[in-house]
Amino acid sequence: MLITQVCGKRTSPKDAFLHEVMSITIIVCLQTINSSAYFWLMHNLESHDKYSGAIHIVKELLNHGFQAYFAGGVVRDMVMENKAPGDIDIATDATPQSIAQIFPQTIKVGEQFGVMIVVEKGVPFEVATFRSDIGISDGRHPAGIAYTDAREDALRRDFTINGLFFDPISNQLIDYVGGVKDIEQKIIRAIGDPELRFREDYLRMLRAIRFSARFSFKIEEYTWRAVKKFSTQIINISAERIFLELDKMLRQGNADTAVLLLRDCGLLRIILPEITDLIGVEQPEKYHPEGDVFMHTILALRLLKPACSSVLAWSVLLHDIGKPSTKSISDRIRFNNHDRVGAEMARETLKRLRASNSLIKGVEACIENHMNFKNVKQMRLATLKKLLSRETIDEELELHRIDCLASHGILDNYNYLVQKRKMIASDQLKPQPYIKGKDLIEMGLKPGPVFGELLSEIYELQLEEKIRNRDEALKLLRQKLSSR
Ligand code: ATP
Ligand code: MG
Repeated sequence: MLITQVCGKRTSPKDAFLHEVMSITIIVCLQTINSSAYFWLMHNLESHDKYSGAIHIVKELLNHGFQAYFAGGVVRDMVMENKAPGDIDIATDATPQSIAQIFPQTIKVGEQFGVMIVVEKGVPFEVATFRSDIGISDGRHPAGIAYTDAREDALRRDFTINGLFFDPISNQLIDYVGGVKDIEQKIIRAIGDPELRFREDYLRMLRAIRFSARFSFKIEEYTWRAVKKFSTQIINISAERIFLELDKMLRQGNADTAVLLLRDCGLLRIILPEITDLIGVEQPEKYHPEGDVFMHTILALRLLKPACSSVLAWSVLLHDIGKPSTKSISDRIRFNNHDRVGAEMARETLKRLRASNSLIKGVEACIENHMNFKNVKQMRLATLKKLLSRETIDEELELHRIDCLASHGILDNYNYLVQKRKMIASDQLKPQPYIKGKDLIEMGLKPGPVFGELLSEIYELQLEEKIRNRDEALKLLRQKLSSR
């Protein structure tokens, strides 16, 4: 009865699982999950590589007289998405010292916070001692921690949906914070007083938005009010932590919603002012019927697929940040050079956020080249091959596709390139040159500027497929040398 009441129609084993878990938990949190839902869950978990390692760790801890549960995000994902979880984090009352004694392979990662890595059959698991944060926080981390019990450990977590435990041996879902109800009602709610919880760690404001966008959950009123109230305090958080949250936000689906929420609460202006600067920047309607540059960026973010690469995600977010400063009005509104200016700005933005050099390099390349695609049909074969053999071509193509779909919607150039990519054999995209420096030396030439010119001239003809083998290349080279 309650099942239908709470969760609506019951259709598949997946739904059945969700319904069972929710209803049982709502009635008595510590009851065993049973029936078909249980088998469904076990089947899915057991077919999951990580499961056996995690279960072994839990059993070992129990055998030594400790409590041990799956904890946090993994339990939320199990309840919500009915799928085999990603990282299985384990929470226990065993101290790091005990954990190190029980398991042969452990790594101390945050021993002072009670966090250890246990490596089981080559797979690392985070095993954390139940803890509560103590003392006055500086807005980033607590003054200290104390080892405690499961309930206290649930209470120090950020949002109710992240405060769940699951006992995989007795199949009990343990909910001290009303997380199951909030999952069911699609709500992101701080555990306890939202203002206090954000004051302890302002990063949680970004996390609230990330989870809200990712799951299409509404942020509960007081939690949202607190985010708005404290948005300027985000400056207390390190750029590295902000970057990691933003990166996840962009790559977990619904990045457009996340950026709109960031705008609405005032965080965007502080952490990514180059994006708020896009608001109100008008564009020529013929090419951009969707509206200003900000709206275009939002539409583009909407087209990002979950689990896309960071290079693509950040390229889509930042691809037009060069527009406000390059805007001019001649025959029409123009943004000359916004690709180059944007690439430089993106480098600065990502450096400020302490992103990795490889990410910066990739994003710069994507943004710098994003306007080249309009000329692809006029490109010579050699130029096309060079474009298609670029390291970031997959991301560049997808950025181009997204850029078109978020504006005029015409994919001619995209389709042309995809077709060309299929037609050109992969070993012909960037073939070994028929002629190398040593051939020139053997013909009596000394290294110098002419050397490089000759090599690239002949390589260009090779890419154009105007010379088809080494003999033809050598013949051409001799002709060129004798005509000098
Ligand atoms: P994701 O699937 O994105 O990894 P997650 O919930 O697993 O989501 P993590 O950052 O991996 O997020 O954190 C694991 C768990 O640790 C969370 O579910 C939450 O219980 C707790 N946690 C993480 N960060 C914080 C924080 N800043 N404040 C309080 N609790 C946190
Ligand atoms: Mg996680």
